[in-house]
Amino acid sequence: MTVALFTLGGTISMAGVAPDGDGVVARLTGRDLTAAVPGLADLGEDLEIHDVEAVPSASLTFAQVLDVAAAASRAIEAGARGVVLSQGTDTLEETAFLVDLVWAHAEPFVVTGAMRNPTLAGPDGPANLLAAARVAASPDARDLGALVVLNDEIHAARWVGKQHSTSTATFGSPDAGPLGHVIEGRVRLLTRPLRKQPLSAPDHDRLAARRVALHVVSLEDDGDRLDGLADTHDGLVVAGFGVGHVPAALAPRLGALAERIPVVLTSRTGGGSVLTHTYGAPGSEVDLLRRGLVNGGLLDPYKARILLRLLLAAGSDGAAIAREFAERG
Ligand code: ASP
Repeated sequence: MTVALFTLGGTISMAGVAPDGDGVVARLTGRDLTAAVPGLADLGEDLEIHDVEAVPSASLTFAQVLDVAAAASRAIEAGARGVVLSQGTDTLEETAFLVDLVWAHAEPFVVTGAMRNPTLAGPDGPANLLAAARVAASPDARDLGALVVLNDEIHAARWVGKQHSTSTATFGSPDAGPLGHVIEGRVRLLTRPLRKQPLSAPDHDRLAARRVALHVVSLEDDGDRLDGLADTHDGLVVAGFGVGHVPAALAPRLGALAERIPVVLTSRTGGGSVLTHTYGAPGSEVDLLRRGLVNGGLLDPYKARILLRLLLAAGSDGAAIAREFAERG
């Protein structure tokens, strides 16, 4: 059987030297990456390699990621039993969630990367790639959508986040914990989240035409830079304090924006949900939801922005957007 490996660059492939000689850049291909993995050949799976890009993940786009998902879909239809995508870890929590929203197959789509590049002592890329390939080939990992595998942990794309700038244990799922582990080469699933219906992937033109801003609220924030946003953007995600709060002075501005574009309320804390009916002061969740903001639920701001952009690109109206966030948030 075959596992399809798609490569997009990132630290896992950074063994080249920048033109000015300072710092590493992506250079390694899928063949280089797999050649550096002891044990991969014993997996009993052929790896079908697709080198797509060699960029830092900060430079990836929605369109590139959706193109990889479409190519991966074709690989599954041609008989692959699972997919591995290697890329940079910086945006991995966003790209994995984007794939998860549109992935319509039972076969696993596993995203991995590395925190230590191959020129350093103890690079984690080979171990992560091997664990990801094991999960992609595992019958137990079917029907789980997009997964993130690093540090021998298996996380649902829906819940995972990058939580540390350098640690090899950077990925965690604060609300759900890992779905499982790879232990002595064996895939051990501990829990299975419910899958939502996949969304259809929008075409590139519709996607390009939809812009979604993210505003992180901070102390004494009056949101003056939000003025005029509805003329340039189609949606806004607000990363509020705690359970979904903003300074009282910002609330009317957000309410006015919500009359023109969807404004989704999330928490900037990195874990937990926006509430619905606990606090009643100006700027609280009750006030903001009454002003027409959409409750992002448990979705963190970055993931909420991905979902909102996909929904807008699909032509969803305000009511449909609110329904989807109620279902997926
Ligand atoms: N800056 C790198 C990237 O996201 C970091 C990594 O791969 O871990 O491409």
